Amino acid sequence: MTALFIGGQWTAPGGHGTREFRCPADGTLVATVAEADRSDTVAAVAAARAAFDDGGWPSTPAAERGALLLGVADLLERDKDTYARAESLDTGKRVVESELDIDDIAACFRYYGRLAGTDAGRVVDTGMADTVSRVVHEPLGVCGLITPWNYPLLQTAWKVAPALAAGNTFVLKPSELTPSTAMLLMDTLTEAGLPPGVANLVLGDGAEVGAPLTEHPDVDLISFTGGLETGRRIMAAAAATVKNIALELGGKNPNVVFADADLETAIDYALTAVFLHSGQVCSAGARLVIEDRAHDAVVDEIVRRADKIRLGGPFDASAQAGPLISAEHHRKVADYVATGIAEGAVLRCGGGRPDDPALSDGPYFRPTVLDDCRSDMQVVREESFGPVLTVERFGSEDDAVRIANDTHYGLAGAVWTGDAGRAQRVAQRLRHGTIWINDYHPYVPQAEWGGYRQSGIGRELGPTGLDEYRQTKHIWQNTRPRPQHRFPA
Ligand code: NAD
Repeated sequence: MTALFIGGQWTAPGGHGTREFRCPADGTLVATVAEADRSDTVAAVAAARAAFDDGGWPSTPAAERGALLLGVADLLERDKDTYARAESLDTGKRVVESELDIDDIAACFRYYGRLAGTDAGRVVDTGMADTVSRVVHEPLGVCGLITPWNYPLLQTAWKVAPALAAGNTFVLKPSELTPSTAMLLMDTLTEAGLPPGVANLVLGDGAEVGAPLTEHPDVDLISFTGGLETGRRIMAAAAATVKNIALELGGKNPNVVFADADLETAIDYALTAVFLHSGQVCSAGARLVIEDRAHDAVVDEIVRRADKIRLGGPFDASAQAGPLISAEHHRKVADYVATGIAEGAVLRCGGGRPDDPALSDGPYFRPTVLDDCRSDMQVVREESFGPVLTVERFGSEDDAVRIANDTHYGLAGAVWTGDAGRAQRVAQRLRHGTIWINDYHPYVPQAEWGGYRQSGIGRELGPTGLDEYRQTKHIWQNTRPRPQHRFPA
């Protein structure tokens, strides 16, 4: 298979090498893909540039662009099984989760499809004679879209849909670990009628094919979702050509539970918050911040239930959680747990591989709870990005807020309480981009997603998510120009 889609054609890459894709669950070969190199990325940018500068997509009426996105949503739903299977084979994620992802992806395309034609700019009343002043939105140009492996197509959709709605062209660089659904998407966009050159795909690793996008002067925007360290590198690289930049980075998200909450429900959601997709979720509720007097009852029950979570591959209908993405990531998660224990955390359950010999071919990690944690511990400060819950205690509401905000991240968090006033107070004081009250994880494409502090810059989803992909221009016209005679003739 070739991983290069340029100017509407699948083409052979320059020969950087091939990569075998194996399902993380059991190592079975999914595909062997010929990867792109630097010169392929440059060619993809040239195709996107030409399609923007000389093609019709940027000037296509916004309502028509929107109609095309609605068509993409229909095709995604038609091909849901194919997409979900491909996503699960790449990530090891349970296929039921992948199916829900495809629903969310279709909803995202549908949202931006409807939004595309709704904003016509505005006319400004200058109060002056003989002038017309208009504020209009224009597409930015060529967008470099770089995405991670944990929600491969969902993160891609959050970028591709608004970028297209706004009239841009793009070069997509998905994670080198999970290429399949990005490849399928190119064919879906073509089938929906997207003109050649508007969508381009390069596959390969970050240094070889991602970095050239961030450096190229013909790329107007980099929209990146991934880890904090990569985000820092991308921000530095984009500075040289003063690119527009949107960064959706990591999170270390507090799930704050007060003793007056409906504890049975809070416990149930705390498990989903952290163990969904084996914790490989940017908004995972990986920090349980629990009121002292509820600690024992809540943590004992979470441990009891975590220990019973059944691990298994993507097509095992009885599995409740899947493997990690790779053996390398497994080592990283294990290291975080070991560091946490060395820092004084108490291992309450999990901590390593399951005993089940049927799972020995995959990087499975047992749901893990580390008790007696403090917010200065490395395992609490940094993303393990695995099924690891750390537990911190608080005594008062102020304490809870202070602990929950004691992080350099700020992506998401939750507060659980039966006190309606406290719910609003705490939600307002938590410095994280999304706060759930008595809930965890839901999102809708209509509401913005983005981080405080080092969780990112800019917004995805929602109406202002579209603004990330547009340039706002003020057009001023003097309707009766004549000499001013400010200086001697
Ligand atoms: P990563 O940073 O390792 O890689 C992300 C992408 O960047 C990949 O496509 C990679 O090839 C590319 N890349 C790497 N180095 C590059 C460079 N120098 N220049 C350009 N591109 C480069 O992240 P990951 O491990 O794939 O994903 C996990 C991370 O993503 C976690 O930190 C998670 O929190 C974050 N994430 C955030 C959100 C969000 O909405 N904030 C959503 C999903 C994932």
